[in-house]
Amino acid sequence: MATELQYTSLDELKSIYDRLSATYKSGVTRPVAYRRKQLIQLARLMQDNQNALEEAQLADLGKPRFEVSFAEVSPVIQSALHAIEHVEEWARPEKPEVEAWRSSWDTTVYKVPKGVALIISPYNYPYILSFNPMIGAIAAGCPVVLKPSEAVPNCAALLAKLLPKYLDPNAYAVVNGGPTETTTVLGFRWAHIFFTGGIKVGQIVATAAAKHITPVTLELGGKSPVIVDTDCDVDLAAKRTLYGKLQNIGQLCVSPDYVLVPRSIAPAFRESLAKWHKDFWPETPLHPSSQWGKMVNSAHYKRVKGLIERSNGQVILGGDVDEKRISLTVVSGVSGNDSLMQEENFGPVLPIIEVENVDEAIEFVAERPIPLVLYAFTRSEETKQKLIEKTNSGRLALNDTFTMLAAHEIPFGGHGHSGYGSYYGQETFETFTHRRGFTNVPPEMEPAFGLRYPPYTEEKYKA
Ligand code: NAD
Repeated sequence: MATELQYTSLDELKSIYDRLSATYKSGVTRPVAYRRKQLIQLARLMQDNQNALEEAQLADLGKPRFEVSFAEVSPVIQSALHAIEHVEEWARPEKPEVEAWRSSWDTTVYKVPKGVALIISPYNYPYILSFNPMIGAIAAGCPVVLKPSEAVPNCAALLAKLLPKYLDPNAYAVVNGGPTETTTVLGFRWAHIFFTGGIKVGQIVATAAAKHITPVTLELGGKSPVIVDTDCDVDLAAKRTLYGKLQNIGQLCVSPDYVLVPRSIAPAFRESLAKWHKDFWPETPLHPSSQWGKMVNSAHYKRVKGLIERSNGQVILGGDVDEKRISLTVVSGVSGNDSLMQEENFGPVLPIIEVENVDEAIEFVAERPIPLVLYAFTRSEETKQKLIEKTNSGRLALNDTFTMLAAHEIPFGGHGHSGYGSYYGQETFETFTHRRGFTNVPPEMEPAFGLRYPPYTEEKYKA
């Protein structure tokens, strides 16, 4: 495959922006029937092109078809169907309860599309991280410019090819490019910017948005820890942690980044990891039968390889590499200041840190930047309460890893260093919606307003 990605010219970026702005002003994206039609088309795009969508990710990331189908194609279709079903109810004006003296004011919240939105997505899950925000924007009635990552050229080119075939090209467009094109796009005034990516670029995006007072959602990453409690099913904790880690070979924002395990159960935990590692990959993840993905580019390959090489821990599982790929590597005996603890690992490496008990693990997490997710394996209500009260994270997920993303009824988003704003389900719709307050005070209220007008006499003041 290996597509040469065609970047959108700087002139074209401006004309796309102007075209979508005119569409927004015309009001065509507002009727619920229009939004539903676009959402149906988006679901069709995913369904009709599943094979091409899988091929593109196989070429860019070596991601197994199963993972693309299971973690991107199906969930995007489900999200679109959910929005189709609920958009009418979400968009309906709200009538809040008001005090009796204002009952005639027609107090209402109208759900207004914010305007033309910009969505910037990362390389690791190029479809779902583009389309799940976009589904909310379409449902809200906003035109969208989507900027996929240039690091996955086959996926980015495919999105640019497919989108105009399915969605209204006057309201939805894909632009492609690197930092130059993105910087140009960030110079325009957007109604909302939804960014998913790393902290450094997130800061650039938020700074550019501030110039135009544009609201931003920042879905960033970080080091999501796993705390293993002594009372849990240790074997299952090892299996489920390894499962979370293997998704897209650790190139996942909610990947278990490191494990904190009490010394008393550390040997059992390591043994179980070894057992499941062998069960998942009887030879090695790098064996041709394993469908093991690759690092997105040589810079990331060298970065993760370097983190492992510089670690003072012991490689107890994996550790083998070829020119592009790194086996799922477990490093034991890691300390808090190890190379593997300096940045988000974002690759197939799992450091294990031994602690005395869960309290020490909680303290360890609380001293560091707030992670996107905190995972813990425990059966104890007391530990659960401690985790709720003494730690912070975008999400707190007990007793499983990756699959917690299926819970679309609750917010997903960062906190602190892992970003701000959240989405999923109705919250994605709300992200792109302005809740416009409305009142209409009838002339018939005039007799009740006698007191409010000057002169402010002593009698009025005392009344
Ligand atoms: P990235 O920040 O390098 O790139 C994200 C997007 O920003 C891409 O579209 C890229 O083209 C653009 N970009 C790059 N440099 C830019 C610049 N100088 N100016 C403007 N735009 C620029 O992120 P990535 O490497 O693609 O993805 C990995 C990161 O994303 C990890 O940190 C991961 O944790 C995070 N992530 C977060 C979530 C989440 O939901 N919170 C999901 C996936 C990934």
